[in-house]
Amino acid sequence: MTDSMNDNGLIMDDSANQDSELISMVVHDLKSPVSAARGFMELIEQTGPLTPQQKHFINRAFTALSRMDRLITSLLDFTQIESGLVLELKKINIVDVVDEALDLYMDIAGHENIVVNIDMPESGVICEVDERLISHVINNLLSNAIKYNREGGQVWVTVSEVDENLKVSVRDSGIGIPTASLPRVFERFYRAHKDHENKADGSGLGLAITKSIIELHHGRIWVESEQAVGTEFVFTMPKRQSLQ
Ligand code: ADP
Repeated sequence: MTDSMNDNGLIMDDSANQDSELISMVVHDLKSPVSAARGFMELIEQTGPLTPQQKHFINRAFTALSRMDRLITSLLDFTQIESGLVLELKKINIVDVVDEALDLYMDIAGHENIVVNIDMPESGVICEVDERLISHVINNLLSNAIKYNREGGQVWVTVSEVDENLKVSVRDSGIGIPTASLPRVFERFYRAHKDHENKADGSGLGLAITKSIIELHHGRIWVESEQAVGTEFVFTMPKRQSLQ
């Protein structure tokens, strides 16, 4: 297997490069039929009164299209990151990014009676990061902690500073990850619970993207989990990228 280096200095084998190119082309071609289908569905809704059964099927088709949209977005993010992305670094307070993610997911957590506990320094943690990408990481970890949880469960988000590093932990009291699957959860398209009731929605790309983003910021991410007890994802990265 031959290796090459992408623009970020990440070593990639050539088969990964070819994969990203192929995915990029396919994804590009997927976008237009999906939006065309959505447009026609909206037109059907305007053609006249629909029976409750017709409305029901149309809503199900809309849900399927939204799922497809999310998959396309994940694939686009993935190919963008794999094919060499230049970080747009700026100094931000990481606590603000976590607060925004919490705003997004509080309703979904509330719907499942999941309590989200936060432990962050009051003065915040100023970090030099690509805000859009780090927000992507925090959203992914938080949404997984809620999605792979159980009714009435808990999530703990902890932000701290350790020497010159930022440390973020997202822990849940959810269904956990089987020991055999743990080494594979950061692999592209790997899903440990695809047959699990209500957990079918996902691409298996979220954690692969998350790991690439953390590594682009010179950090590392790891996971500990016990089945039926819960899971903890932790990442650390230098607060100042320009020193790396
Ligand atoms: P997905 O789109 O399937 O959620 P991810 O890449 O985000 O993809 O996660 C990969 C797999 O890791 C998931 O399919 C799930 O099996 C497992 N996983 C991720 N986060 C958790 C968690 N907090 N608790 C249990 N399993 C998890």
